[in-house]
Amino acid sequence: MTATHPKLVEILVDQTPRAMIAMLIVSSAYIWIFYRFAPFYILFTWFSLQILLALYRFHNAKNFKKSIENNDPEKTKQNEVAFILSNIFQATMWTASSVIAIIYAPQPFELVIFVMVIGIITAAALSMSSLYKAYLVFFFLMITPQVIVLIYYGDHQHISLVVLTIIYIPATILLSKAIYNSRLSNIEAHYDLESSIDELHRLSTIDNLTNIYNRRYFFKVSEAAIETALAEKHDVSLLMIDIDYFKKINDNYGHLTGDFILTNLVKEIQKSMRSSDIFARIGGEEFTILLNNTSIYSAENIADKIRKIIENKTFYYNNDQINVTISIGLSALNSENRSIEDLYQRADKQLYIAKINGRNRVSS
Ligand code: GH3
Ligand code: MG
Ligand code: MG
Repeated sequence: MTATHPKLVEILVDQTPRAMIAMLIVSSAYIWIFYRFAPFYILFTWFSLQILLALYRFHNAKNFKKSIENNDPEKTKQNEVAFILSNIFQATMWTASSVIAIIYAPQPFELVIFVMVIGIITAAALSMSSLYKAYLVFFFLMITPQVIVLIYYGDHQHISLVVLTIIYIPATILLSKAIYNSRLSNIEAHYDLESSIDELHRLSTIDNLTNIYNRRYFFKVSEAAIETALAEKHDVSLLMIDIDYFKKINDNYGHLTGDFILTNLVKEIQKSMRSSDIFARIGGEEFTILLNNTSIYSAENIADKIRKIIENKTFYYNNDQINVTISIGLSALNSENRSIEDLYQRADKQLYIAKINGRNRVSS
């Protein structure tokens, strides 16, 4: 069986209960029209089987949907096979109904059954086109035996019905294909839009070079984090990191090497971060880390640990071995610093102090 788009299968499965209710209504109408012509036991058996089939298909649709939602390919495949088999059985049931009518009912009831068959096939095109192959199986299983029975009778009226049926075949197949294509393109357009939105979100929040948050997003999420911290009265600290003499790295080794250092320095720092920390690149070689639930004392320890890690790390790029150091300014939420802007300014001042005191140090 072909791998149908899961969303299409979902549409198909969602339509099954409605299709089954319609099927039971048409079956009741059929019984009402033909009970006086065909033997009771035949109609009774037929109707009972239709009800059992409807119940089974409700059940199958529910499981089918569940297996798609749970992303369980094995169960999905099993349910798809069950779906197609029950479809085949359904088609056979309708075929049986037409054959019963053609055999037992006088004119003009053959015409009634003909109209009913056309109605069922058209309704099936609407409800089943998402699984196009299942529709074709249903369609041909329903149409072929009827054409054979009608030809078997062979008189003028029956042959006219055969001709009409044959004319109807390409029409309904085209209808079904058109429905299938339009559903598929709708779904594809929907997914394209979703992935564009994801990409847009990524571009507006993530720094291109280092893949951590950008400046704009940092301020946005930090603001929210600080609001929560103020409400819940817990600590927040801010680290502002700047690479020492980074201009020299670019001058001595080139800009590409500079970029390499930036990305790998970020990776190195990330290793010692918690998931609640908010790490961002806020300028060329400047970074911030907002530490949630962290006092200024713990933040000092964390900052010094990061500083040492970078001091002891050697970066290898092409044939160069490069060592860099960083300076870190610290600030924390307190009665004076109550917003992200306050924290930022305060950490920036401390960074400046770390720089004039000789670099490769933490100041708070
Ligand atoms: P210090 O901070 O220790 O005072 O000295 P510095 O040389 O690091 O300071 P400054 O802020 O003057 O220089 C930062 C340099 O970072 C300038 C610029 O060439 C470089 N830079 C900024 N963004 C990028 C980038 O995306 N890639 C590379 N390779 N370099 C960058
Ligand atoms: Mg610098
Ligand atoms: Mg700088």
